[in-house]
Amino acid sequence: AAKAGGRGMYRFFEAGMSQSAVIRLELETALRQALRQGELSLHYQPKTAALSGEVVGYEALMRWFNPQRGHVSPASFIPVAEESGLIGQLGRWSLAEAARQIAAWQVAGYGWQRVAVNVSARQLVEGDLAGEIRQACVEAGIPPELIEIELTESVLMNQPDEAARALQAVKALGVTVAIDDFGTGYSSLAYLRRLPIDVLKIDRSFVQEAELDEHGMAIIRTVLVLARTLDLRVVAEGVETEVQAGLLREAGCEFLQGYLFGRPEPAERVEARWAAALPTGATKPEIPVS
Ligand code: C2E
Ligand code: MG
Ligand code: MG
Ligand code: MG
Repeated sequence: AAKAGGRGMYRFFEAGMSQSAVIRLELETALRQALRQGELSLHYQPKTAALSGEVVGYEALMRWFNPQRGHVSPASFIPVAEESGLIGQLGRWSLAEAARQIAAWQVAGYGWQRVAVNVSARQLVEGDLAGEIRQACVEAGIPPELIEIELTESVLMNQPDEAARALQAVKALGVTVAIDDFGTGYSSLAYLRRLPIDVLKIDRSFVQEAELDEHGMAIIRTVLVLARTLDLRVVAEGVETEVQAGLLREAGCEFLQGYLFGRPEPAERVEARWAAALPTGATKPEIPVS
C-alpha cells in the first residue's frame, strides 16, 4: 500500500502514521470525490403498520458505489465522514436528495410518502439543521411534514441543551423526529421528556433477542410502556422473521421495519412495486403517521 500510494504515502509511514490512519485518509479523500462525482445514492426501506401491513413511510439509507472500491458500507464511511467534518456536506446532500425524490414521486402520482433521513450528531449541534431542512423542502417544493429525521441517542444525551434547541427548530417546521437504535444508549427518562420527539425506533439487537427468551421480550415491553407514557410511537427495526413480527405485534408494537417487509432499494424499484400494486385512479393516501 505504501508503494501504491506514491511518495506522499511513504512519508506518512515514515512519520509514524498507523496504517489504519492512512486507510482512513484514503477513504476520506475518496469520499470527498464521491460527492462531486455523483457516486452517492439513497436506497429506501419501507416501514409498515404492524397490524395492517400497510407501508406508512420509508427510510432513506445512503449508498456509495466507487469504481475502484465497489460498494462501501455506510457503517464504514459514515464514521469517517463524521470525524473529518464531511458529514455536513453529506447530510445536506441526503436531505436535498430525499426531498427531490419525494417531489418526483408526487409528480409521478405516487406522492405523500413520508421519508426518514438519518442525521448525524454533528449536523444537529454544529450546523443549522432546521435551516437545511427548510431549504431542501423549498427547493424541492414539498411540505416539511413529509420529512422525518432519525437521530441516535448519544447526541441527545451528550449535548442535551444544544440538541433540544436544534430539535425545537426542526419540530417547528412540522418535521417528525425519531430516535434511532433506541435502547443502545443511555437515555434518561428526564431527557426524553424534555425533548420534542415523536418516535422511538427499537434497535434491531433487541428485536433479534426477542425470540430467544422472555428476557429479550421484557426489554421490548419496557420500551413500549415508556413510549406509551411519553406518548411516542414505536417502530421495531431489523425484523427478519415471522416469529419476531408476531411477538412484536402481540406486545403492541405499532410499526415494523426490516428485511421481512422489504430491503432498502433504489427509488426505481420502489416505484416499480407501486406501479404493480396501485389500482388505476388511486387517490391520495393520508399522510402516514410514522
Ligand atoms: P440505521 O439508521 O439504524 O439503519 C438500519 C440499518 O440496518 C441499515 O443498514 C439497514 O440496511 C439495516 N437493516 C434494515 N433492516 C434490516 C434487517 O432486517 N436485518 C439486518 N440485519 N439489517 C437491517 P445500512 O444501510 O448499512 O446503514 C447503517 C447505518 O449507517 C444506519 O443505521 C445509519 O446509522 C447510518 N446511515 C446510513 N445512511 C445514512 C445517512 O444518510 N446519514 C447518516 N448520518 N447516517 C446514515
Ligand atoms: Mg435509521
Ligand atoms: Mg437503527
Ligand atoms: Mg444504526
